[in-house]
Order: sequence, then structure tokens, then C-alpha cells
Amino acid sequence: MAEKTIFQRIIDKEIPAKIIYEDERCLAFHDVAPQAPTHVLVIPKRPITSVATLADDDAALVGHMWMVIRNLAKELKLENGYRVVANCGRDGGQSVDHLHFHVLGGRQMIWPPG
Ligand code: 5GP
Repeated sequence: MAEKTIFQRIIDKEIPAKIIYEDERCLAFHDVAPQAPTHVLVIPKRPITSVATLADDDAALVGHMWMVIRNLAKELKLENGYRVVANCGRDGGQSVDHLHFHVLGGRQMIWPPG
């Protein structure tokens, strides 16, 4: 069996995380190495590797995750704005092979990203 990703271990509560939201389909928690004053990750509980491996049937799940992001941004008081990032694959800078959306806020973001 393939080794569990670090995010699967967080879902399975094998390792701790600062979880701020959980439902039957997804989980949100603070990034361990924050790149902004607010940096949370929203992940599906289903083991999806990346955006590239999403199935058409995952559309409702991904839509739900965006609603969770919208609600969390309000709760986290990111009223000045925020950035949502999904790194995909090697060139995209993805380091954990479990789909995740970064939600970054609390400072001015720059463009283009590195
Ligand atoms: P990626 O580079 O794949 O887009 O993002 C992975 C993110 O997961 C990184 O921002 C990294 O800091 C975060 N991360 C990696 N391991 C852990 C962990 O064990 N706990 C938490 N909370 N975040 C992690």
C-alpha cells in the first residue's frame, strides 16, 4: 500500500494540526509554515492527488470547498482580501500529493508569484 501523505495522517488524526473547520467532506487547518499572517489549508477528505487528477464527479466537492473558503475568510476577518492558491505538480511547486487550497491573507500579496 502506498505510504500515507502527511495530510492523510492529519485527516486520520494520527498527527496534530490546528484544525479550524471540519465536515464530512473536507478539513481546514493552519499551515505549519505560514507564508502570511493568515495561512490556512483547505483539503478534501477524499484522497485526491492534485487538481490534475480531479474527476468530473469531484465538481460538487470542489464547489463545496470554495464555499468553505468563502466562509472561513469571513470568519478569519480577511475583509481586505486574500489569495487562494492550488499548486499543482512539480512545476507548480506542489510538495504534498493531496489536493489542497492555500488561503493566504493579512498582508498585501504581490504579483507575479515566484
Ligand atoms: P504545497 O507546497 O504542496 O503547495 O503546500 C504544502 C503545504 O503544506 C506547505 O505550505 C507546508 O508548509 C504545509 N505542510 C507540510 N506539512 C505540514 C504539516 O505536517 N502540518 C501542517 N499544518 N502543514 C504542513
